[in-house]
Amino acid sequence: MNDVLARLRELQAADLPVHGGRTLAYVYDSGLAEVDEVARAAVAAYAGSNGLDPTAFPSLLAMENDLVGFAADLLDAPSSAVGTATSGGTESVLLAVQSARDGAPGVERPNMVLPSTIHAAFFKAAHYFGVEARVAPVGADFRADVEAMAALVDDSTVLVAGSAPSYAHGVVDPITELAAMAAGRGIRFHVDACIGGWVLPYAARLGRDVPGWTFAVPGVTSISVDLHKYGYTPKGISLLLHRDPALRRSQYFAHADWPGYTMLNSTLQSTKSGGPLAAAWAVVQQLGNAGYERLTADVFAAVDAIVAGVARIPHLRVVAAPDSTLVALGTDETCDPFTICDEMAAAGWFVQPQMAFGGHPATIHLSVSAATLGAVDDFLAALVAAVDNAVAAGPVGVDPEVVAFIEALDPTALSDADFDGLLAASGLIDASAGGDLEVPDRMAEVNAMLDVASPRMREALLVAFLDRLQRPRR
Ligand SMILES: *Cc1c(COP(=O)(O)O)cnc(C)c1O
Repeated sequence: MNDVLARLRELQAADLPVHGGRTLAYVYDSGLAEVDEVARAAVAAYAGSNGLDPTAFPSLLAMENDLVGFAADLLDAPSSAVGTATSGGTESVLLAVQSARDGAPGVERPNMVLPSTIHAAFFKAAHYFGVEARVAPVGADFRADVEAMAALVDDSTVLVAGSAPSYAHGVVDPITELAAMAAGRGIRFHVDACIGGWVLPYAARLGRDVPGWTFAVPGVTSISVDLHKYGYTPKGISLLLHRDPALRRSQYFAHADWPGYTMLNSTLQSTKSGGPLAAAWAVVQQLGNAGYERLTADVFAAVDAIVAGVARIPHLRVVAAPDSTLVALGTDETCDPFTICDEMAAAGWFVQPQMAFGGHPATIHLSVSAATLGAVDDFLAALVAAVDNAVAAGPVGVDPEVVAFIEALDPTALSDADFDGLLAASGLIDASAGGDLEVPDRMAEVNAMLDVASPRMREALLVAFLDRLQRPRR
């Protein structure tokens, strides 16, 4: 057994660290060892429990109801509110869209109206559930444009949504105005608070200026909030809350017309591990409101220090004053975000590149964790050095031949041969290594190449890339 676990640790050494506050996307670190310990023990204790049937595992139902109750208080929900534990933000969003669609069975060709900054999960929902995504451009401040969204609403609109905050820019949409607009037309309004939902309420309690976005806002009918982000719980848990049970009814799926058990599900999954739910319950019990308040004070101290520090770094700027714990950084023309990301990675910091979008150039995303506070001076020093190196190297360029090659490709019909040609041209395939695909250490050239591609082309290229990565070892 020790041998297998040693091999596991060896494999894991290649991954981004989940502790230490130096990974500024994908993971959220409280920095509290005792919280991680409780979480791990709870995952282990419940790894084999099955959330399929709450009557067979009543402890899972009890923990789910506790968590939803805690969240309902946090999100100013009325006593009528109900909720469901899901596997993550994407599943919460999928179910919000699905329940809105199926809550309006008379609508033949349903649509939903979204700001262009809404999370990609809504487009996945559109794709899976056949709900047309109508996208309105956002304002110059990256917040949803209420007028532009109102103009897209019609009799077939089953859902309007906004973010608290948006992932890419970290700003909260004008939820009060959007919810009023939707309510005035009898349409459901969802707040995607997947990333902000567990931190903004505490920020407000700490006296920070947070615009209204919870169930206290009239017209908000559902909210998604992830525990596996700023709840600092292990991966695999989010909550979807509805203002009342009638709004949730269409989320349920039941099927009795087969020879097995009557399938009865509140989520997309049927059999599901009790581990993430038990871990979230345990962490929330342990931290409680007081613990989250302290973690929120820490994470905002880190955010404020980063914003102030960036203001002193030439060539770098904060794209939008953050409403929450997410910061987008932009550069001037002397350097580029992708090279800075590579330089930061070489210094032991993961920061996430974001491609150009809607006429705005590429940026760097930071999801700041409470644990980042203790390392914030190191972070700023690393950033200064990374920008210096990126300016010295100059902005990364893309070979005009590669640009021409990409522009000539049809994203709807990308063949294996096209893909091979592109990989070879971009240097992603090492021909001397037998044509094996390897993720390179430095990604700036690849990111710059993707950045010049259209979104459709980028999707096609990355799907082809992932398809090549996911090949069995035999
Ligand atoms: C993370 C996130 C999601 C999706 O959540 P996953 O847990 O990654 O599935 C949805 N919306 C926003 C704003 C997010 O930040």
